[in-house]
Amino acid sequence: MTVIAFIGLGNMGGPMAGNLVKAGHDVRAFDLSQASQDAAAELGVGIAGSARQAVDEAEIVVTMLPAGKHVLAVWEDILPAVKPGTLLIDSSTIDVASARRVHALAAERGCLSLDAPVSGGVGGAKAASLTFMVGGSEEAFALGEPILARMGRRIVHCGGAGNGQAAKICNNMILGISMLAVSEAFVLGEKLGLSHQALYDVASTSSGQCWSLTTYCPVPGPVPNSPANNGYKAGFASALMLKDMKLSQEAAQAVNASTPLGAAAAQLYGLHNALADGGADFSDIINMLRGRSGA
Ligand code: NAD
Repeated sequence: MTVIAFIGLGNMGGPMAGNLVKAGHDVRAFDLSQASQDAAAELGVGIAGSARQAVDEAEIVVTMLPAGKHVLAVWEDILPAVKPGTLLIDSSTIDVASARRVHALAAERGCLSLDAPVSGGVGGAKAASLTFMVGGSEEAFALGEPILARMGRRIVHCGGAGNGQAAKICNNMILGISMLAVSEAFVLGEKLGLSHQALYDVASTSSGQCWSLTTYCPVPGPVPNSPANNGYKAGFASALMLKDMKLSQEAAQAVNASTPLGAAAAQLYGLHNALADGGADFSDIINMLRGRSGA
């Protein structure tokens, strides 16, 4: 049994902390929101009075927070209270620069650290089937992997500090762009008199095949479980896709990478958020291309 502090018990963090309890760990957690605290307490998570209190005897600390500024603030607050040698893991999706900054703060305190963002959504957090993309030293990874394995199914070490976040935003840039490509093809096909099923049957077994088509098809019918069959209810909210697209653009600017399709996609998801409110699934972008919102 390991004493684990868990800060940030929202839609993802709550069930992730619950899975660590299920695995037999002593989890001491904190969240600013009473509702998040109550939901996690029902899963057996111990609730502390503050983040500093939660880390008091922790051997491992996990944070799952909205954005880089929250992670920086929380790590700056708790680092003086953790013992040197403690492993800190941030699983939030944040900008690469902030991720590398908090690794440096941890090193100054004599602590080990990992950036370990996830994919798999709330369903994956509940089912402990997340994929973790991990950045940090070999030593930190060796210590953190068994803990991450209690919350996820696939753990990929992507290299040094910040590389987990780099892998996450590169992957999601592919996803955001590919959903637009698939959506544009369906809208064009409709205008050319092609049925959704016919285009699906061809593209899903041809060179247009991709996850956005075969798992998350943006029109109802061909893939029965995709959000298009459920009024475009998220799923993966357009607001979260916009967040990730902006992170990829920030990173591209910082290292002078040319990502013109990523830039266009970020603009289009920005427009979609303004029109359809960020709560709709990101595949609802097809309706914006048709000149309306299906959400
Ligand atoms: P959420 O908004 O549901 O939860 C965030 C929690 O952090 C909230 O409960 C909030 O009260 C708490 N919090 C904020 N500042 C705090 C502080 N200073 N101290 C303690 N608690 C604080 O968000 P989420 O959906 O759980 O996502 C968390 C992270 O995971 C985000 O970075 C998100 O981009 C990423 N992510 C989310 C999904 C998803 O499908 N929801 C999928 C992959 C990655």
